[in-house]
Amino acid sequence: MNRDTICVQGGYTPANGEPRQIPIIQSTTFKYDTSEDMGKLFDLEADGYFYSRLQNPTCDAVARKIAALEGGAAAMLTSSGQAANFLALFNICQCGDHIVSSSTIYGGTFNLISVTMAKMGIEVTFVPPTASEEELDAAFRPNTKAVFGETIANPALTVLDIEKFARAAHAHGVPLIVDNTFPTPVNCRPIEWGADIVTHSTTKYMDGHGAAVGGAIVDSGNFDWMAHADKFPGLTTPDESYHGITYAERFGQGGAFITKATAQLMRDFGCCQSPQSAFLLNLGLESLHVRMARHCENAMAVATFLESHPKVAYVDYCGLASSPYHALAEKYLPNGSCGVVSFGLAGGREAASTFMKSLRLAAIETHVADARTCCLNPASSTHRQMNDEQLKAAGVPAELVRMSCGLEASADLIADIAQALDKV
Ligand SMILES: *Cc1c(COP(=O)(O)O)cnc(C)c1O
Repeated sequence: MNRDTICVQGGYTPANGEPRQIPIIQSTTFKYDTSEDMGKLFDLEADGYFYSRLQNPTCDAVARKIAALEGGAAAMLTSSGQAANFLALFNICQCGDHIVSSSTIYGGTFNLISVTMAKMGIEVTFVPPTASEEELDAAFRPNTKAVFGETIANPALTVLDIEKFARAAHAHGVPLIVDNTFPTPVNCRPIEWGADIVTHSTTKYMDGHGAAVGGAIVDSGNFDWMAHADKFPGLTTPDESYHGITYAERFGQGGAFITKATAQLMRDFGCCQSPQSAFLLNLGLESLHVRMARHCENAMAVATFLESHPKVAYVDYCGLASSPYHALAEKYLPNGSCGVVSFGLAGGREAASTFMKSLRLAAIETHVADARTCCLNPASSTHRQMNDEQLKAAGVPAELVRMSCGLEASADLIADIAQALDKV
């Protein structure tokens, strides 16, 4: 099926007389006739539901749609994008292991990997997204278990050379995990370029209306865990906490990763998505292909206008020919990238502040990828504790404004930006 059709109809096919829309199965638990029936579920010998912390039919239908959209073998929903990235990494990394990660990633993920996972004994080496093959190669250690990056980084807007990162990961016998939140599978399917695992903050474009926090993990089914059995004992040796099951043997290449992350990590961490949220997420997915095109069109119009304005010092948007990431965007994102544009005002921090205050349509929010246009000046909000020097080093100079273009008429957005720039 075409991606557009999967957005609308994927994951759920009602039988004769069943509800047309995915039913919200608002039940914590499921009833069985015999203890033997239940026992088979606990032994993972039969398919079925027993407790919504592990699996729920509403969440599974939406996960199937996301798996189909990404061209993956299996998927699961999580309570948030943070939970998705944590479970995806922790499913194959344990104390004493090491991760190679692109340095331009979402601040929350940067903190998760560099601070919280470090406390668990998992180390990280950050490499710039522009790293050469040699630089990448040098970042690996014998205990490296995964490579991580974002297709389009939030908020740096760098574009990951997925093929290059996948080649490096595979040369060292480990999978590449790609956070595909910003382009969504409508604009890029990382698995087609060699990524093994794809993660999402569904909070962003997939939901698209700022309605529910959520996440997803998709496994391509392409990584051969058994061929690197010594590196991934969690998948290739018996799980004593699950009746001695060996996931890679019992569930094969296409089922092992998601089954382990569900049966073991979701069981223990409990960061599941609620069926209500999954229902809202699915409503967003039904129009994702239509909305992404409009987000990109509006962002391109806004970026082009900003680039020609004398009060704007620079614009970062990979759709612009002037972007250092334009060539990568043409390769990986031929139909558009995302709706987020970053730019700097010639007048510095004060100009940014006056500009933001003067906007009428674009709201000041710590959010992106919403139907409504919003913007943020990291220097006066998320990165407020830093001085101008530190801000520059972190790639978010004081004058930087990140604008997430919504679905309004682009002429109205540009008129709003123009009147706010006049006040600067
Ligand atoms: C927002 C975001 C996250 C975190 O997702 P939450 O749903 O807020 O937990 C992770 N990665 C990227 C790229 C994001 O933009």
